[in-house]
Amino acid sequence: MFITYEEFCRRADVVRADIAAACGAADRDPQEVGLLAVTKNHPAAAAEYAARYGLPAVGENRVQEGVDKRAQTTAEVRWELIGHLQSNKAKLAAAHFDRVQSVDSEKLLLLLDRSAGEVGKILPVLLQINAGRDPAKFGAELEDAPRLLDAALARSHLRVEGLMTIAPLSDDSTVATRTFTTLRELRDRLAGETGAPLRELSMGMSGDFAAAIAAGSTLVRVGTALYGAREPAA
Ligand SMILES: *Cc1c(COP(=O)(O)O)cnc(C)c1O
Repeated sequence: MFITYEEFCRRADVVRADIAAACGAADRDPQEVGLLAVTKNHPAAAAEYAARYGLPAVGENRVQEGVDKRAQTTAEVRWELIGHLQSNKAKLAAAHFDRVQSVDSEKLLLLLDRSAGEVGKILPVLLQINAGRDPAKFGAELEDAPRLLDAALARSHLRVEGLMTIAPLSDDSTVATRTFTTLRELRDRLAGETGAPLRELSMGMSGDFAAAIAAGSTLVRVGTALYGAREPAA
């Protein structure tokens, strides 16, 4: 059974306190770190809870699931795509999402740009980088990031707002820290080279957002800590 709104509020208060604590430890202003509620695998009510609590945006990892859920609710939130995007879903994603965080190839850039143009919008995007060099993760290779960024900046219907990464699963917490630091350093370098601000650094999930905040995250993507486990415990 899905959690109640009261339960959601308790969890969200804890997550916000943890974000504030991580910001305090890193000498950062909590206003600099956004909280994206990851609603994947949960009912549309999850987005309604987020909106009612005052969170500005929710994240979905599958295009069709996000499109369906969005149609089921009038919740006033922005919808962001955070999962791998296949070419054949680019058009649907461009039309129905407010931002796509998982752009990791030039092919996808071109398709999203064309589709955004067709529906008459400028689509905000983040470039997903495999900063942890994890064979199990999507994302552009670090070496390909400059070329991908140049290609993105040249598209007139895309607005590149920053970078996104997912840390490799590891028992060793230094792996996540290293991944997040790598992404921040890449952002700083690319911003310096191109003059594009690349303000958003989307990094950190339920298990590792404190490390991400310490490394400079501006957006943590949190599912489990807000809504509980997505699958019943075995
Ligand atoms: C599922 C997911 C999250 C949230 O993960 P939790 O561990 O449940 O907080 C964050 N980012 C991406 C890309 C995801 O797919």
